[in-house]
Amino acid sequence: MIADNIKRINEQIANAALKVHRRREDIKLVAVSKRFPVSQIIEAYAAGQIIFGENYIQEMQTKKEQAPTSAIFHFIGHLQSNKAKIAAATCDMIETVDRLKLGTALNNHLQALNKTMDVLIQVNIGNDVKKSGVKSSEAEELLIRLNDLPRIRVCGLMTMPPFVDDPELSRPYFQKLRLLSEKLSRKGLFPAVEKPQLSMGMSSDFHIAIEEGATIVRVGTAIFGER
Ligand SMILES: *Cc1c(COP(=O)(O)O)cnc(C)c1O
Repeated sequence: MIADNIKRINEQIANAALKVHRRREDIKLVAVSKRFPVSQIIEAYAAGQIIFGENYIQEMQTKKEQAPTSAIFHFIGHLQSNKAKIAAATCDMIETVDRLKLGTALNNHLQALNKTMDVLIQVNIGNDVKKSGVKSSEAEELLIRLNDLPRIRVCGLMTMPPFVDDPELSRPYFQKLRLLSEKLSRKGLFPAVEKPQLSMGMSSDFHIAIEEGATIVRVGTAIFGER
């Protein structure tokens, strides 16, 4: 069942890319496995899925120990600075850096581990009081500060728009995130990458996010089922 879902999502990603003349290989699928047992990750991995998304750091740590060693884990939840040590040791990418304090804590732990980490800046593109993420108006300042931290590579932006019933209503938020990344990119503020990554779109609206430029989509329910 998981294998069928992954196949179907990959076809839908390819179709969305084709529609707007983008290359399929420029879009990564993150299978959001939060609250599902590691057995489901193993099943998805056997079906060809490599990248997994988790939103609790301890849960990610446990699963990473039990998952195939070449499975890749993106952290997509709210990260407290006091969890930065585990995150620095465990994650392959952190998509949710939204404040300097967290960046600094990560940088210090990465330094001690003698490694670097790819991160995204989470932007609260809808100025939604219930969502974390830096305000759009403060993203540039945060990016400049994070660029000074030698162990952190800022690879792009991530967002979770306000919840809406009609996926079309997410489109303006996806457009806003893309315009923001283009603006920052023109200013040369993503020196670590050739082109910034855009992580946006979930089960209900990833096809629209791809039309608007997503390079990473985070899909949970449509792969693993209801949580
Ligand atoms: C849970 C979650 C997802 C996946 O949502 P689905 O609607 O189940 O696809 C994507 N991104 C983040 C940040 C999440 O927490």
